[in-house]
Amino acid sequence: MAHDRPADGPEETTWSEIRPFSEQAPRPVPPPAPRRTALQVENFSKAYDDTHAVTDLSFRAREGEILGLVGANGAGKTTTLRSIAGILPLKNGTVSVCGHDLVRDELKAKQQLAWIPDDPQPFDSLTVFEHLRFTAALYGVEGWEPRAESLLTTFELQEKRNALGGELSRGMRQKLAFCCAWLHKPGVVLMDEPLSGLDPRGIRSAKEAIRSLAREGSAVILSSHLLELIEELADELLIIHRGQKVFSGTMAEARTSLIGTADATLEDIFFKATESSAKTDG
Ligand code: ATP
Repeated sequence: MAHDRPADGPEETTWSEIRPFSEQAPRPVPPPAPRRTALQVENFSKAYDDTHAVTDLSFRAREGEILGLVGANGAGKTTTLRSIAGILPLKNGTVSVCGHDLVRDELKAKQQLAWIPDDPQPFDSLTVFEHLRFTAALYGVEGWEPRAESLLTTFELQEKRNALGGELSRGMRQKLAFCCAWLHKPGVVLMDEPLSGLDPRGIRSAKEAIRSLAREGSAVILSSHLLELIEELADELLIIHRGQKVFSGTMAEARTSLIGTADATLEDIFFKATESSAKTDG
């Protein structure tokens, strides 16, 4: 039934005048909240006797960001990650984790960190499940069991929940390291070749888990020689060569500034970023 329109009142919209959503002007989307810096590394240098492993390296990673760290063998990636993790003493430069200085506020900084080395060494005398209980106790995680169970299922470790650390294969040790790292929802996760021992299903779960960890707000520093992996997962790139930063930025910025074509691969970018120093290296 048609309604009478009041002579000088506001015009009524009829159903036929309402345009489908697809034709309506999009509502302005509020700009995303600026992401806070989760990891800040400033002027970091490290030498082993007379080998300069890393020289004056500065970079940052923001919450929810996956930072791909790439560099040739001996470029200084593991040295950088082990220093941020607090395994190597930090003597030159500063590292701040979620606002906590790694030297002055060590405990708070380390509470926000997780570290996944390429060949994790779990405790021989603890079972898989006991590793999770131990990690939860260490980081003060309340109500950790459901998350632990879901992690064991995701990483296909349920069958091995009662196996001792020393009874696990390398891939299983890596999966356990993933579970322990994920359990306490760290602000910053450091990963050194985290997929190298995993089977295809493990690789798929790990990739999905890395993405979901970043979605939950963690900054993930992912060091790998698998350039396709970095290309697939990383939001930002940090390329180091002989201990020095040669590029940092997004893939798009790398394509524009280093190659000049929009379809360049990370392999192209990597060789371009490291070629001038490689030439001077002789
Ligand atoms: P890769 O990709 O081969 O794992 P990387 O980028 O992780 O290499 P690092 O392991 O950080 O490189 O090594 C950086 C430099 O420091 C190399 O020249 C290496 O020989 C040297 N180095 C690393 N560890 C030690 C050590 N314990 N003692 C002496 N020199 C070391």
